[in-house]
This record gives sequence, structure tokens and C-alpha cells, in this order.
Amino acid sequence: DSPWLDPDAEPFIKVRGITKKFGAFTAVNNVDLDIYRGELFCLLGGSGCGKSTLLRMLAGFEQPTSGSFSIDGVEMANVPAYERPTNMMFQSYALFPHMTVEKNVGYGLKQSGVPKSEIEDRVNDILKLVELQDFKKRKPHQLSGGQSQRVALARALVKEPKVLLLDEPLGALDKRLREQTQFELMNIQEKVGITFIVVTHDQEEAMTLSTRIAVMDAGQFSQIGTPTEIYEFPESRFVADFIGSTNIFEGRVAEESGDHVTVDTEAGPVLIDHGMSVQNGARVFIALRPEKIQLTKEPPVAAGPNQAKGVVEDIGYLGDVSIYRVRLDNGTLVDVTAPNLVRPKNRTHKITWEEDVYLSWSASSPILLTK
Ligand code: ATP
Repeated sequence: DSPWLDPDAEPFIKVRGITKKFGAFTAVNNVDLDIYRGELFCLLGGSGCGKSTLLRMLAGFEQPTSGSFSIDGVEMANVPAYERPTNMMFQSYALFPHMTVEKNVGYGLKQSGVPKSEIEDRVNDILKLVELQDFKKRKPHQLSGGQSQRVALARALVKEPKVLLLDEPLGALDKRLREQTQFELMNIQEKVGITFIVVTHDQEEAMTLSTRIAVMDAGQFSQIGTPTEIYEFPESRFVADFIGSTNIFEGRVAEESGDHVTVDTEAGPVLIDHGMSVQNGARVFIALRPEKIQLTKEPPVAAGPNQAKGVVEDIGYLGDVSIYRVRLDNGTLVDVTAPNLVRPKNRTHKITWEEDVYLSWSASSPILLTK
């Protein structure tokens, strides 16, 4: 039931060679993208990478400099914004302050000449969906941030677009509410079954929400994939570093055989036992997630690759886990995420600053990157 995982499925939205220039500046640089029906697709990237510009072109608020795209088999080049099967929800929500919730939500339908009784029914249905049926007589200033967000969502959904475009939909909410609202947004999307395209700069949000993510950098896609693919199998240093945190070691391929590679790095020899093809002597990078490293006070029983010794230089206590910043004997810094080992009696940590520690990791954990 996930067409984006089916290589034979027909894309619902096809973006082909889209470029957008503002004068001499290229905001979106010749991108291709397939999005499937029912996806909750995230465009993720830092400030200025071009994600909003791409969304605005889909909405028809901005014309591409070159390239084309289609939605549900229809070429969009000559279709004005108001005739597109899309609707946009803005971060600012742009609710009319003098109108009640129900008037705000029904406004677009009224403008399109939908009969009054039908407007009432559709507004009621959609307010039920976003659980605001008891708030319909309120005005925007009588709503919380989360409620305003849901009104904006209801207003965007009530016209039943084929594609809903959301620019930083949770950006105005505080962290706690944002996390809670992520699940609501996913549930609502699943219920209505409309394709959502979400722009966000928040990688955790993208990981939680998405069927798939396109990581954007300087007007292009660095990688497109499911949250798991992007996190577990980043294809570049940029993606490995942008999604979650990671240790990156520079190195040179020391030995390459059919089923494993050894790389000499600043953190010592790293053995990797999963698929890749590289040349002996090639300069490469190793990405190693902090949570894939084991931290102990006891030295390993036998010497081997994928081990290092160092001293705890900093500890970031996060409650469930701590981040230990370990300086290896050769000066390299390695971050390790480990469960907190607290002695209940005197409430001190079992591993603390300035202590000698040993690091080790499995040969399936490092990711070899050539760019
Ligand atoms: P943010 O998260 O900061 O909004 P973004 O990835 O959404 O970033 P865009 O709004 O798509 O970024 O803008 C991409 C680049 O294009 C930016 O460098 C921006 O300054 C530039 N840009 C956007 N709109 C225009 C415009 N109308 N005229 C000139 N430059 C523009």
C-alpha cells in the first residue's frame, strides 16, 4: 500500500528539470522529483536552499525559469494557481481576525460559489476531523497556537485539493506542542488520504512525519529516500551530518576484499563489512553514529580494528542518555551516545570526566562515503 516503495508505480506528481533563477542567482537548479499518491513528502534543508521556492512553483505562485511538472497526469505550465489541484497552508496561517473559525474555514468555499448548506456540512465535517467542532464560534484571537494551526489546516483541506502544500506548518509552535502536533498532522493526512508536501528545516520533524524526504542543498537534492534510508544509509557527508549527528573520520582505503574494507582513519583502522566498491588507497570518509559506539571502562579482551582508547573530555547529560565527547590518544574527538549508568547509592555517574575509556563498534556500523 506504499506506491513510493513500488518501482512500477506511476508517480502522481512528476517534476522534470525544474530551474528557478532570480536574476543571476539560481534558487532551484534543474531538479527531478517523483511524488506518489498519498505520500507525506518532506522537502528538508537549511535556510535558503530553495525548498520554499520549489513549493511555490508547485502552487503556481512562482513560474519556473525552465523545466516542467505535472500533477495527476496534467501538465501545470499553463494552469494558473487558482485552477491547480493544490492548496497551500502558510506558516503564518493568515486567518481573518474578524471572522469566526467556521467563517474562516468556509471562506474559500463561499468564494467558489458553493451553496450555503453544503458549506455548512463540509465545514462541520472538517472541523470534526481536526477536533475543533466546539470552537467554531470563536475568533482567531481566542485560540491557542495549536488551535490556530488546526484552523489553518482545516481551511486548506476543506476545498479537497489533490495536493496540500505546507510551508513550515508547525514552525510557529513551541517544541512540545510541535511534537504532539506532528502526530495529529500524520493522523489527519492518513484520514483524508490527500498527498501532502511539507517544507521544513527541522530534521527530526521530517524524520517523524515523512513517507519520504528530499534533502536539499543549494537548489539541488542531495538525497531522496525514506527516513530510514536517509538516516541509516546517507550517501554523502552532507546528508550524514545534516540528519542526526555523526562522527566523520577522514581516511584512506588500506585493504579491500570482496566482503569487507579496512580504512585507516584518524580514529584508527576501521573495518567495514557491508557492500561498497572502492579502490585500495582511495581517500574516503567514514560516518559513524554516536549511538553505534560502545563505551566501557574496561579494556577490550583482544586487540583488533574498530577499537580506540581515549579520555572523557565533556559530558552532555540528556536524561535518558548522555553524549560523551572522548578525546583519543592522537587528539581526535569522538562523540558517543550511551545510556546513563548512575550509581543509585551516591547518585554519581559510573563514567565521568577525565576518565580513561575504551570505544568499540561493530563492523556493520560505519558508513563509507566517497563524497
Ligand atoms: P528558508 O527556510 O529560509 O525560507 P528556503 O530554502 O525556503 O529557506 P527559498 O525561500 O526557497 O529558501 O529561497 C531560496 C533562495 O532564493 C534564497 O537565497 C532567497 O534569497 C532567494 N529568493 C527567493 N525568492 C526570491 C525573490 N523573489 N527574488 C530574489 N531572490 C529570491
